[in-house]
Amino acid sequence: MSSKKVRCEWCGTDPLYVNYHDIEWGVPVKDDKTLFEFLLLETFQAGLSWITILRKRENFRAAFDNFNYKKIAKYDQKKIDELLQNAGIIRNKLKVYSAVSNAKCFMEVQKEFGSFSNYMWGFVDNTPIKNAYKTHAEVPATTLVSDALSKDLKKRGFKFVGSTVVYAHMQATGMVNDHIKTCFRYSEV
Ligand SMILES: [Zn+2]
Repeated sequence: MSSKKVRCEWCGTDPLYVNYHDIEWGVPVKDDKTLFEFLLLETFQAGLSWITILRKRENFRAAFDNFNYKKIAKYDQKKIDELLQNAGIIRNKLKVYSAVSNAKCFMEVQKEFGSFSNYMWGFVDNTPIKNAYKTHAEVPATTLVSDALSKDLKKRGFKFVGSTVVYAHMQATGMVNDHIKTCFRYSEV
């Protein structure tokens, strides 16, 4: 990683955060397995900082069967109790229960649309929205699209999918390019 490169200021200098910014953030994701991984991590983020979640990502991966939504949808009370005892993840009861119910909802969407990716990308006509913000301060926390996607996800039974969480998901999975214009990744993602 080069320190001379201009990048979005939010990632600071923490190598974990910088790598996430440089490699993953804003790159269009079309495979359901990765989309579910982001969705699960983002629902756990609600109210916390993203770096907190990133630092625990591998703990989440180990605790949640490598983000295998088919397995997660079948978690029983014993497994849920185990997760609630796991100090490596975020032990929020509602979030843990929601991870299981969201996995079920996720599979319902797959059934209806062929894939979660088809469903989600339909909200932006399958084309990433390329913004051109000059500073991070200009980047909104929600948009009309995230409002609509959030509302639809809630209607489908998803939990912890407020518009802010959904917009973070859209940014992370490249539905929207919110790298600032001077960031070296702006024209790369
Ligand atoms: Zn950037």
